[in-house]
Amino acid sequence: MDKKVKVIVIGGGAAGIMAAVAAADAGAEVIIAEKNEKIGKKLYITGKGRCNITNNSDIQNLLLHVVSNPKFLYSAFSAMDSRKLMDFLENNGLNLKTERGGRVFPLSDKSSDVIRTFKNILEKRDVKIYYNTEVQGINIKDGVFKSADIKYLNQNGRKNTETIKADAVIIATGGVSYPSTGSTGDGYRFALNTGHKVKETFPSLVPVNIKEGFAKELQGLSLRNVELSLKDGKKVLYKEMGEMLFTHFGISGPLVLTASCYMSGKDMAGMKFIIDLKPALTKQQLDGRILRDFSECKNSCFKNSLGRLLPAKLIPVITRLSGIDADKKVHSVTKQERAGLVDLLKGLEMTPEGMRGFDEAIITRGGVMVKEINPATMESKKVKGMYFAGEVIDTDAVTGGYNLQIAWSTGYLAGKSAAGIK
Ligand SMILES: Cc1cc2nc3c(=O)[nH]c(=O)nc-3n(C[C@H](O)[C@H](O)[C@H](O)COP(=O)(O)OP(=O)(O)OC[C@H]3O[C@@H](n4cnc5c(N)ncnc54)[C@H](O)[C@@H]3O)c2cc1C
Repeated sequence: MDKKVKVIVIGGGAAGIMAAVAAADAGAEVIIAEKNEKIGKKLYITGKGRCNITNNSDIQNLLLHVVSNPKFLYSAFSAMDSRKLMDFLENNGLNLKTERGGRVFPLSDKSSDVIRTFKNILEKRDVKIYYNTEVQGINIKDGVFKSADIKYLNQNGRKNTETIKADAVIIATGGVSYPSTGSTGDGYRFALNTGHKVKETFPSLVPVNIKEGFAKELQGLSLRNVELSLKDGKKVLYKEMGEMLFTHFGISGPLVLTASCYMSGKDMAGMKFIIDLKPALTKQQLDGRILRDFSECKNSCFKNSLGRLLPAKLIPVITRLSGIDADKKVHSVTKQERAGLVDLLKGLEMTPEGMRGFDEAIITRGGVMVKEINPATMESKKVKGMYFAGEVIDTDAVTGGYNLQIAWSTGYLAGKSAAGIK
């Protein structure tokens, strides 16, 4: 009988787990080296603990939501698209549901159920998981992967080091966002040390600092059904309706995180955020609405007339920014002042002043350059037997389950290819 191909997977996150499953299914002997005491530490916190596993849509839609290097992912998405992933999980006992925008979650709303399902799947396939085991280096000879140096805690709590020989290695170490989950950029070092290029990394899908003091004043205020635009000079980089949030440093929430994708790694000098607080109304309709509100409280001061239109926390800010005397009776507010108010409500401007750091970033922009990886196999073009999967690669997407799908798909393709190396 032929000796089994031995594959070592570095990292027990989404990409590493799926790579191990695919390699084992293709007949390989598989080891996962995970530096944490458990697998899926980041998976556990995804989707606010609910884990937005994927997006229930076709490959074209998946590609459309990838921000960096979508073309590179075509083969990986074809090897495992979201339908195949969902069928696989449901066949393994994890019930799923699809919510607004195609977002797929476990029916139980618990990310721990996703992790438990994968642990069972790995167990059934005899994948060995080395916990508390950090890979420290990759050894290659004449452009071929040979072994990995590991450091681990033995049963007595002592640190040991060892070198594991294998036929192939899959680097699934993630990026550098939320480093407390174990993603500390080790894969970039392995890539650089073995002659690969790594594109500079930036936090992405991340909250944004705002220059204007009023943003901090609004801390805690959540706005629904507003339209947020991001402009660079006259160019509209992003425009969408949804939900956002003011914080002690600026803004966050779904709209802002997605908008940050278009800022990551770019010069922000000419950028502005614009909030349309009443996107369902035209300027004319909004003016009519304000006039109606005014006519119902003719003798009120301006500052007391906006209660029906705006959340309480926003009223003092809008009153001040409108330039209308707060104590002016509404019956004497001029048409011109009203026009200014309408413009403000349909175009509240804010200046981004830097993005928050990797500690708060959902994903890392940048990573191992895709031109050095074969998209049909995920194998390095520089080192035979060395594969990459997941966030360590220079590719990222917007929110909606797309980033995890990148991890599942690239992991699957890398695992399957690595198992067939001989
Ligand atoms: C708060 C938050 C919420 C998110 N929510 C979603 C969501 O709902 N949907 C979605 O699609 N995406 C979401 N994402 C993004 C998604 O989690 C990542 O894109 C995905 O987890 C990347 O998977 P990965 O396997 O490549 O890397 P990771 O999940 O980062 O896994 C890498 C693993 O490698 C291990 N490791 C690293 N170096 C070594 C080493 N030297 N030796 C051994 N082990 C090592 C780490 O400990 C870690 O377990 C979220 C991210 C965050 C931070």
